[in-house]
Amino acid sequence: MIYNTSLSNLHTHTNFSDGKMSLCENIERAVELGFMSLGISDHSPTPMWGSDFFTGNEKEYTAEIKKVADKYSDNIDVFAGLELDSFFDFHREYYDYILASVHFIKVGGECPPVDWSGDVQRETIMKYFGGREIDYVKTYFSDFVSHVENCRPDIVGHFDLFTKFGVINTDSDEYRKAAREAVSEIIKICPRFEINTGAIFRGYKSSVYPDPFILEEICRLGGKVVINSDCHDGFNLNGAFDSAVSFAKDAGFTHVDRLTNNGFVSDELD
Ligand SMILES: [Zn+2]
Ligand SMILES: [Zn+2]
Repeated sequence: MIYNTSLSNLHTHTNFSDGKMSLCENIERAVELGFMSLGISDHSPTPMWGSDFFTGNEKEYTAEIKKVADKYSDNIDVFAGLELDSFFDFHREYYDYILASVHFIKVGGECPPVDWSGDVQRETIMKYFGGREIDYVKTYFSDFVSHVENCRPDIVGHFDLFTKFGVINTDSDEYRKAAREAVSEIIKICPRFEINTGAIFRGYKSSVYPDPFILEEICRLGGKVVINSDCHDGFNLNGAFDSAVSFAKDAGFTHVDRLTNNGFVSDELD
């Protein structure tokens, strides 16, 4: 079918983790918008968040989503997913899909965050890398490759999240080389990357994750994309999806993937 901005979103958060709305509220909002499907991808627990997210009990988390999904099955398909960091011993069999993300890098026996603030990011680069930004960049990408190798996800989440605050120089040749090398490794395992609009409607960036040059590389290497908003409430379920479509087309994509009860299908960009 032809892609439109109310078909689906596979990166959404509810109050199972740090989202602000309940599962039912999110689903009802998606039905109002005319979505065909919705994926719930609450965060896996990590020690750094000090969280006791409900997703820590995978069986209950996914069973609850599936129970509520049944109630709405005449109107919308709801899928049980997980936004997975590398600190959680997850069980694949519970989930309809896995979205792999990196919110923390591993360095010096510690795990500093990459998306808390520009100041925290600058401190991380100074403290652990002696100010050498490219070493920080390479650690982030190398952690991402390892994470994907280990968890074998269905979707790569916000691949360059650490560009959120504009601290990283994404124009340098060495940055672009490191990013392209990571894409080429990851794409052999998981060909599907999300175009994530979260930083646009939250006012952090004027473009999506990943950066347009990375999208071009994914396209050149035969990768696929899904369009997600990473919303933490129901109000941005298709936030900035029009922009995502433009970025996808500009990078050369002709299709966007969508999850169905029979696996992923591709919708055509008109
Ligand atoms: Zn995330
Ligand atoms: Zn997220």
